[in-house]
Amino acid sequence: MTTSGERHCGDCTLCCKVMAIEALTKPAGTWCAHCKPGRGCAIYAGRPAECESFSCLWLVSDLLDECWKPNLSKLVLTTSEDGVEVRCDPGLPNAWRKEPYATDIRAWAAEGERNDMTVVVIVGQRMILITPEHEFDLGIVGPDERIVRELEGTKVVGASVVKAAELRV
Ligand code: SF4
Ligand code: SF4
Repeated sequence: MTTSGERHCGDCTLCCKVMAIEALTKPAGTWCAHCKPGRGCAIYAGRPAECESFSCLWLVSDLLDECWKPNLSKLVLTTSEDGVEVRCDPGLPNAWRKEPYATDIRAWAAEGERNDMTVVVIVGQRMILITPEHEFDLGIVGPDERIVRELEGTKVVGASVVKAAELRV
């Protein structure tokens, strides 16, 4: 957690639950042992570099309304090389289906389909690819696996999970 521009993490600590922290072998979806939820990091000065460099999209983007603040929405937004990732607090696994979040997520999916970008909801380690018309529940996608979309033009008509190594051969 950090501060950026006009916005501050304040009483939010949700990334310390939803994100995996490699340096601490902390899996996604469980509280970090060093987190004091709602208050901050007990090892702030010595926190891992990946924590120090992390900013969620709400913190850095004025385009997201205040309602998207992670401890209110229960959703942490990040980007990947493929598009947008919506990490949902696994304690409230349907938070992303509530409004206004569901409508925004669908709109991003529609925009993404036109521009070859993906919108993925992540609940713990379970991933759901969102398209304007469908939800593709892909189950647990490991760090060595990738989502492959089946396209008809720009429209996504299917999705599957394959080993990253298979994509390189
Ligand atoms: S989820 Fe975002 S706002 Fe919340 S603590 Fe992490 S970086 Fe700060
Ligand atoms: S080390 Fe600190 S900043 Fe990093 S996940 Fe744990 S509580 Fe959060």
